[in-house]
Amino acid sequence: MSDKDDLRNTPQQGTNAPVTASDYPKFMAAAKEQAAKGAHEGGQPIGAVVVHLPTGQILGRGHNQRLQRGSRVLHAETDALENATMTGEQGASPVPDNIMTECGMFTTMSPCPMCAGACAQFGLKLVVMAENETCSHGEFVLANFGIEAVNLRDAEMLNTVNTWIKGPGASTWNNPQLAVPLRRWIAEEPGNPKGQISS
Ligand SMILES: [Zn+2]
Repeated sequence: MSDKDDLRNTPQQGTNAPVTASDYPKFMAAAKEQAAKGAHEGGQPIGAVVVHLPTGQILGRGHNQRLQRGSRVLHAETDALENATMTGEQGASPVPDNIMTECGMFTTMSPCPMCAGACAQFGLKLVVMAENETCSHGEFVLANFGIEAVNLRDAEMLNTVNTWIKGPGASTWNNPQLAVPLRRWIAEEPGNPKGQISS
């Protein structure tokens, strides 16, 4: 079964009520399910879900596909955006752009600049992250585009990722060839990567 087939068979988890901060843990749990799915596949334990904020419906789920598919583009967030806009949940129609602008991204890791840019590209209003200790260098993008960012400081997720980084993920996580200009910029401008994060 492909991931897209699985999406079509996933029960919809809509509350039909506007999302409030008290709902954030529930949607983060769905993102963590995606992270666990990625880990089960032998991939990076990073997951995300796209949530329609006026109704609480999950419109797309995704997890990092770097090791499974050799994709350098399908991170958890971009995979969730791809699934929302290409298939939709339960085989529903792909989510149109005007609905995407009413959505938030729940991700188990603070988004990289590519994924933060993708959130801006789709006009998302909110990014909720489980933690930002393993990655924070896309937060300036969120801040520049006025996207609200919330850090849940989820110790369990941070421990899961750190265990992976120090173990099976060590060789792929610490790739010296990846994003060299970005790494140089972070090193030279340590104040830049941090956006305005509430928690
Ligand atoms: Zn990313």
